[in-house]
Amino acid sequence: MKFLNLERHAPVIKQPYQGRMLIDGELCISQQGKITERKSPAHDVIVGIYPDACREDALRAVDAARKAFDQGTWSSRSGSERADLLIRVAEGIANRIEEMALIESLETGKPLTQARSEVSGCVDLWKYAAALARTLHGESYNNLGNSTLGIVVRQPIGVVAMITPWNFPIWILSQKLPFALAAGCTAVIKPSELTNGTTLILGEILLEAGLPQGVVNIVTGLGPTVGEPLINHPDIDMVSFTGSTRVGRHIAAEAGRSLKKVSLELGGKNPQIIFPDCNWEAAVDAVVFGVYFNAGECCNSGSRILVHADIAERFTQAVIDRSKQVPVGDPLHPDVKVGAITSETQLNIIETAIKNAKAEGATIRFGGERIPTTAGMYFQPTIITNVEPSMSIAHEEVFGPVLSILNFSTIEEAITIANQTSYGLSAAVWSKDIDICLRAAKGIHAGTIWINNFLEGFPELPFGGFKASGIGRELGLNAVEDYTEQKTIQLHIGERTHWWLTQS
Ligand code: NAD
Repeated sequence: MKFLNLERHAPVIKQPYQGRMLIDGELCISQQGKITERKSPAHDVIVGIYPDACREDALRAVDAARKAFDQGTWSSRSGSERADLLIRVAEGIANRIEEMALIESLETGKPLTQARSEVSGCVDLWKYAAALARTLHGESYNNLGNSTLGIVVRQPIGVVAMITPWNFPIWILSQKLPFALAAGCTAVIKPSELTNGTTLILGEILLEAGLPQGVVNIVTGLGPTVGEPLINHPDIDMVSFTGSTRVGRHIAAEAGRSLKKVSLELGGKNPQIIFPDCNWEAAVDAVVFGVYFNAGECCNSGSRILVHADIAERFTQAVIDRSKQVPVGDPLHPDVKVGAITSETQLNIIETAIKNAKAEGATIRFGGERIPTTAGMYFQPTIITNVEPSMSIAHEEVFGPVLSILNFSTIEEAITIANQTSYGLSAAVWSKDIDICLRAAKGIHAGTIWINNFLEGFPELPFGGFKASGIGRELGLNAVEDYTEQKTIQLHIGERTHWWLTQS
């Protein structure tokens, strides 16, 4: 394996970023004055100091968002005015790419080069939302007879709680917030307690861009303390959550009790299906990229491949050979592709998954261990073979750099195995035969299917999952509509026929 700078001791940041929450237009500390420190999982040094909020802080944030929404300070602005502000935020992010990328890399453990692309991608998401702010519209019906004109308008749904995970903190928030703002909503945001930094920097950018008081509020703290009060609060109209299927289920149940709208982006166990006529080099590269990108801490991770029996051993060996070349190490090193694992909890989850795979009879063909270092938490790129669809490693999400390899003989079998998990987020098919590709694309139960590619995304294309991978879609043309309610207005034209004069 190729390791780079694993024993780095040089300072990684001049001083820890001291972020403050945003409540009712003010940058603030928590009411109880408590703080939490974030250590870089790659270097074990403190890189962020944040308010550790209490329930009262969360409630204050909800009050501010509710008041701002009810006063109509934001929702009464025109689409073009909202778009102007979203563009200013996009420019604010663009001006702070380096600073945000460094914090994102230091808090998640992902390579700085990838964090830079993630933050730059957010600029585009905010610009796309700005474009949609101006095109949001309803429908009209002129085919209801001579006496009726029907109009369907879209109104902002209200106050949206946004709860986000630690793997792509600023990207995932940028899939939600600008679209909700484009619709005219107000928001309360709770980032993962592990990765508050870039969300709080965004708070500063929103203030500088001139967002009215209370429209966006950010509280930092633990899920049960500051997340829980949001999901069952009567003043919250919608919860938009990205995270684990376990917490997603809980949020959906709570929202069900208070009848709130929920949007859930959850886990995945995404297959890439490899046929013998694939473009070999491209497929090997996409498999390695798909599983090791973001150290596999990615809902869209290509964590299992289904390889046709005719090429199974040769393809497996090619993936192992390529895996040996993947540089693992200090996320700040420009050549590193796989950084640190974000938390000790996640590292334990990965180790347990590998222990269970061995116990169930699978073979660890490559890697499979923690990397011993004096600082930070790293895991070897890992490849597991002799995997049967019934084994937990074949259908449970690992969220680490761990690839399971399964085999198949016919396209029907490949589709069956692909669908043998509770998840349905994404999949890829590799073949030069368009008929094979389209049959697989139609048969696999997943929200995104790539044909001869993997992990590419565009703001224009909807993203979300089938089954336990979630409810609803983000991005795409309807991204703003998701944060609206429809209202039907019926206009009567001319004299109305009185009820007692009709037969019905
Ligand atoms: P998580 O579910 O543990 O936490 C997500 C967020 O929920 C955090 O902010 C957490 O503090 C909060 N939370 C926890 N308990 C809560 C509660 N009781 N009430 C309210 N909020 C609560 O997930 P994670 O470990 O941060 O992220 C990893 C998971 O996220 C993986 O399963 C991954 O697949 C999933 N994920 C999905 C997508 C997607 O778009 N489909 C994207 C990224 C991550």
